[in-house]
Amino acid sequence: MPDSPMPDNPMPDNPMPETPFFEVVVVGAGPAGSCAATVLARRGVSVLLIERGPFPGSKNMYGGVVYPRILDSLHPEWWEEMPIQRWVTRRSTMVLTENQAVTIDFRSQNWGVPPYNGATAYRPDMDHWLASKAEAAGARLLTSTTVTGLITDARGQVCGVRTDRPDGDVACRMVIACDGVNSFVAKEAGLYPDLNPANFTLGVKETLGLSRSVIEERFAVRDREGVDIEILGGTQGVNGGGFIYTNLDTLAVGVVLKLPALAAQKTRPEEIIAHLKSHPGIAPLVEGGEILEYSAHLIPEAGRSMMPQLTGEGLLVAGDAAAMCLAAGIWLEGVNFAMASGMAAAETAAEAITAGDVSKRGLAGYEKRLNSSFVLADHDKLSRIPGLVLSDRVQHQYPQMIANVVERVFRVDNPQPKPGLRKIFAEERKRAGVRLRDLARDGWTGMRGFG
Ligand SMILES: Cc1cc2nc3c(=O)[nH]c(=O)nc-3n(C[C@H](O)[C@H](O)[C@H](O)COP(=O)(O)OP(=O)(O)OC[C@H]3O[C@@H](n4cnc5c(N)ncnc54)[C@H](O)[C@@H]3O)c2cc1C
Repeated sequence: MPDSPMPDNPMPDNPMPETPFFEVVVVGAGPAGSCAATVLARRGVSVLLIERGPFPGSKNMYGGVVYPRILDSLHPEWWEEMPIQRWVTRRSTMVLTENQAVTIDFRSQNWGVPPYNGATAYRPDMDHWLASKAEAAGARLLTSTTVTGLITDARGQVCGVRTDRPDGDVACRMVIACDGVNSFVAKEAGLYPDLNPANFTLGVKETLGLSRSVIEERFAVRDREGVDIEILGGTQGVNGGGFIYTNLDTLAVGVVLKLPALAAQKTRPEEIIAHLKSHPGIAPLVEGGEILEYSAHLIPEAGRSMMPQLTGEGLLVAGDAAAMCLAAGIWLEGVNFAMASGMAAAETAAEAITAGDVSKRGLAGYEKRLNSSFVLADHDKLSRIPGLVLSDRVQHQYPQMIANVVERVFRVDNPQPKPGLRKIFAEERKRAGVRLRDLARDGWTGMRGFG
């Protein structure tokens, strides 16, 4: 289901290209696909970008914060034209129990001026802008067209795609799969081992309408400044987390829920969001917000451990199609990983085409490029963090322990003297049923990942 709102001037439907041969076919005009197509077109490679939606972004949703530093080389001074909502100048992490909230809040005015850090943006606006850049560079965009199969030659090398259009086959030298989570193309090529539902979360989001002045007053921001709040707890016992992001005159409020945990109980995702919105720490922020849209999408949450083979014969896989979304507690970043991997795939493809070898061997430079960039470096470093963040202890025991410790530190129990932090911590650890051994192990895992 799409993010909101629709752009004023969505791209019109367009006919099949007259010459159904391109050097590269890119499947999916999300951030990965559009960045891949831009790089290829600028290198003089003929490229067809196929999107199933009526315009790029029409089928896409996410939480709402993008980190576009990776665009510095592709679109210098992107901040002058990228359709953003607000520049994120405040980041908060909240730990919720049923009636407590512990918040770490950071703000920096450095993030409100060029070259900025993160921004909130609507997917239809952003994806539409990225795809228009690919078209301006010379890529051919074909919308309202779903890739339904791969065509392979006698050697088993991908040499075209089938689409749902009449006479819709397109021949090519190679394909880049940027078709998002649960990639049909990567699965069809046999690059994924069996998919495990425990590797996915379901992200659900409400877009709430509130006036610009109310948002700025409640979140203590001015002009185009914005806020990113990540939340641990508040998901009614379902392992996952929540978020609140500010747009100009809407809020994005959502939860990400571990699939097996969600399936194991009867509460519906919209009830979980309603519960989150009623929390005493959240309710004053969202009060009066009119629900403009409800959307949902899967997230490949398990990082490195669920990635498919990234290279096939005549095929590369990028972005969510390759499970490159980084979901590591304090970070939920997928768009920058998608853009970077799309660009790396395109550079590799352009070189392979020039060299006349698009076999798996000829495309081996893709993984090398990703290994030497943040894409796989971050995933490797943080490989244990998604499992830690979604573990029962982090989800159910630590939030209560932390909130109780903070409550007692700030509680004045006169005539009793202050008990001291070590005593409070030891008592609350025992009360939460946390074994010292487990705490040490989780602390070590966290330090190795985040440290
Ligand atoms: C609830 C939620 C919150 C998130 N929050 C954030 C966030 O705040 N910040 C962040 O950076 N990331 C966030 N993410 C992750 C982010 O959305 C993804 O990592 C990112 O969109 C991946 O980009 P992509 O181009 O690889 O895939 P997608 O954006 O999924 O694009 C894939 C494209 O392929 C098209 N397509 C699919 N199949 C076919 C086919 N067979 N034929 C033709 N076209 C096809 C689709 O229509 C789509 O346009 C969030 C995700 C969710 C679900």
